This record gives sequence, structure tokens and C-alpha cells, in this order.
Amino acid sequence: MPDSMLQQDDYTPLDRYRQLAEKSPDLISRHAPEDFSFIDVNPAVEKILGYAPEEIIGIPAYDLFHPEDANTWANRDSGVTYREGVYTSTYRFKCKSGSYVWLETTSRSIRNPETGNMEEIICVSRDVTERVQTEHTMTRLARVVEASSDLVMFSTEDHQINYLNEAAQKTMNIDKGRFPTLHLDELVSRETYHVMQEKLFPQVMKTGNWRGEIPLKPDSMEDRIAVIQQIIAHKSEEGDLQYFSIIGRDITDYKKAEEESMQHQLEMAHISRLLSVGEMASGLAHEINQPLAAILNYSRGSLRRIEDGSMARVEDIKKALELIARQAVRAADIIKRLRSFVKKTEYQRMEFQINDVCEEISQFLEQEAQNAGIRFIFRFDDNNPRIHADKVQIEQVILNLLRNAIESYKHSDQPVKTITIQTRQKDGQMRILIQDQGSGISSQQLENLFEPFFTTKENGLGMGLSISRTIIEAHGGRLWAESDGRSTTTFTIRLPLGTN
Ligand code: ADP
Repeated sequence: MPDSMLQQDDYTPLDRYRQLAEKSPDLISRHAPEDFSFIDVNPAVEKILGYAPEEIIGIPAYDLFHPEDANTWANRDSGVTYREGVYTSTYRFKCKSGSYVWLETTSRSIRNPETGNMEEIICVSRDVTERVQTEHTMTRLARVVEASSDLVMFSTEDHQINYLNEAAQKTMNIDKGRFPTLHLDELVSRETYHVMQEKLFPQVMKTGNWRGEIPLKPDSMEDRIAVIQQIIAHKSEEGDLQYFSIIGRDITDYKKAEEESMQHQLEMAHISRLLSVGEMASGLAHEINQPLAAILNYSRGSLRRIEDGSMARVEDIKKALELIARQAVRAADIIKRLRSFVKKTEYQRMEFQINDVCEEISQFLEQEAQNAGIRFIFRFDDNNPRIHADKVQIEQVILNLLRNAIESYKHSDQPVKTITIQTRQKDGQMRILIQDQGSGISSQQLENLFEPFFTTKENGLGMGLSISRTIIEAHGGRLWAESDGRSTTTFTIRLPLGTN
């Protein structure tokens, strides 16, 4: 039998209490009723407050309360709980070092049984600094959630919503009183809820987290647009689901800004198209002049032949008139193309074949290219892939790249000048490559090429590539340039195929 056990049997109950108090990690103290000064204290005082027991004896405890808590203690307000003559309070108490610890103290007053006067107060205090700080952190976190501009909701396993922060209540116009009976299926459309039930929640249960975008559409919502962006499954250590956090965002302002920017982009694209037409004026004039000149020639020639009698047969006259009509249609076509090109259009996506668009645009520039001695080479994907995009905007981009390619030959004296237009379909993506062997682009220029107002041309505006890139990115694609710095330059447009 160990020695200590043998010895313990010799102790009186009071000794045992004393020994317990000596060993206790809690601070056990006795206080005088008048000023609450320490009469006796166990050694734990050293660890908790930094005082040796003999140092603290005689010091009034009131002097060591944190100023903000002293009143709480003195007035026994709500921070103090009573239970059969025992009361418990949590407060800050000053250590010898000057810093404060949080103590949770249970006190009992000892009264003289005859006079009823208070003789002393016995306290058992525990250092709860860590717990109180955690509680404070939790309170702060709760305040952050409540004040967050994100919409935060908590739901049970069967999607009963039992908490909505203020932003969620405001955006969806939901009254606090609705919480107890509010269900997730009231916040999204029926089809969406079905998909969430079938796919999304099983995934959240598996991975713990889901991110994406789901429109929130409660009947109560008025003029706001909001989406769920994240769902988190909170589980116990055993892996059982405790609740879901559903986090969303009010995107009304973002959507409005997006619409405004789209509108702005349309305006810019329109202005840029008008500018291109201005720049192409001489080429276009030449193109329209050709059928007009042909009409004039045919009609003069025919008149002459009618007058000198060499054209008398109705068939011959009909043939001449047909030739004239064909040229008139050609001129009208050019003007029609021009009109549709400068027309202001709304942002409108449709499905179309990309090879056809490349061909149309190069026809448009054919005259300008011919004048500069440049030939277009087509390397089209045999399947003539379809893309789903705004046709006018894509035409705008291709036109811009082709005009830049033509202009890159401005100071070139190469005998053979070509521009290759290639379309290629691969891995669900469409690529359109426009390649020239003109001036080339230095690596330094490549860095700034797509910046607005970057230009090396005397009368350049430097907006073409910047607008082109915005248009392609708005379609979920990419536009970039590669050049060996001397001659070969390739611009590549990458766009998603089909519907997007
Ligand atoms: P702008 O044509 O008005 O200058 P862009 O934004 O269309 O505006 O082009 C910006 C600059 O990019 C041009 O000034 C030119 O220096 C360069 N660039 C564009 N395409 C080519 C090309 N194919 N070859 C060489 N340089 C090019």
C-alpha cells in the first residue's frame, strides 16, 4: 500500500479539506465582508493571478476588479446568478502583472447563526479566460454574419430554413416571423428545387461544399436579383449532418452595371464600325463604281447598236437588259451589305456558320486588298462549324483583324502578299486564325497590343483590338496575337461551339 494512503487515514476531515484546497487548481479564497479583502487563499493564486499567497492577503478584492465589472459585482446585476445563498459571477480580475484574467467565481457568505451578521465570504474561482474569449469570438462572428452584405441562411437536413440574416431578409423581403415555417422550396423555382434535391444536396453531403449560381425567386421578392453561391454541409465529428449554410448574394447592382457595360460596348462597337466604313470609303466607292460603270457601258453599247440597227432582235435586247439588271443587283447588294453593317443592332445571339461569315467579310474587303496587291487564302474547316454568338459583333472582330492585316503590308515591298484565314474546330472550341506576313509585331508591342488607344498608325485610334477582345470575352472566348517580331503575325479567336 502506498505511503500516501497510509498517511491519509490519519487526517481529520478538516485536514482533508485543507489538503484538497492546497492541491486544487481552482482559486479558493476567504474574504472579509467589509472591503472584500483576502483573508486566506490557496496556492493556486500564484498560477492564476501571479501573487504568492502571503502577498495578496490583506488586499481588498474590489481594488482588483476591472473598472467595467466592479459595478456589476457591487450591484449584483444580471451578470450574477443566485442559487440558495450561493452566487456565481464572471468578471475580469487584475493579475500581479497588471493584465486581466476572466474568473468565474462562486461565492457563499458565512453568517453568524445567532446574530445573522455576515462574518466572511468564501469564493471558488476558476480561470475561464479561454472560454470567455471563445464566447466573445462566437458573438463577434454571429454579429459579422448578421451584418454581412452576403445573404446567409441556415437550414435543417430537410431544408427547413431556420435562420436568415438581415441581408437575406431584406433582399427577399421576408419577415422574421416567417422563419419557423419557411422551406427552401419557397425560395427557388420548383424545377430548381427538384435539381437541388436530386443532384446538388447529395453532392454537398459527399464533398461538404458546393459553389455555383442558383437564382433565388421567392414570391415575396420585389425588384431585386439574388443568387445562391455556396452551400456548406456542417457535420458532427461522427459525420452526421448538423445543418446546411446557404450563402447567397444580391446581384441587382452587378447586373445593372453589366447591362450598362454591354450597352456601352454596343455603342463602342457601333462607332468603331462607322469608323471602319469611313476608312473603307475609297475601297467601297471603287467597288460600287464597277457595276455602275458596267451598267453605263452596257446601256450605251446597246443604245448605239439599236440606233445603228445591229441590235434589233428582242432576244438580243433582253440579254443586254438582263446584264444591266445583274450589275444593278450587284451594286444594290454592296449598298445593302453596307447598310446592314452600319445599322445599330441590339445585342442578339444566333446560330450561324463561321466560314460563311469569314467569306462575306473578305468579300467586303476584297477591293481594298486588291488595291494593295494582297490575296486572301482560305483554309476552312470542311464541316463549316456553327457557332452561337452575336453575328454582327463577330463580323466586326474579323473585319478589324483583316483590316489590320491589310495595313500591316503598307510599307512592304514583298512580291507576294497574302492573308490566310483559317477556321478550325477542335475539342468543342472554334478557332479562327488570321495570319499575315506584314510588318510583324515586336514582343514589347505584343504586351500592350490590346490596351485601349495603343496604336502605331499615324491616324490610328487604337480601339479596334481592345473592343475586339471585349467582344470575344463577352462570348466566353479568347483573342490573342502571336508574332515572330519580323513578319509572320497570327491573331487567333477562340469561341465555344454551338449554344452557350
Ligand atoms: P488601330 O488599327 O487604330 O491602330 P487596333 O487596336 O486595331 O487600332 O490596333 C492596334 C495596333 O496593333 C496597331 O496600331 C498596330 O501597331 C498593331 N497591329 C494590329 N494588328 C497587326 C498586324 N496584323 N500586324 C502588325 N501590327 C498589328
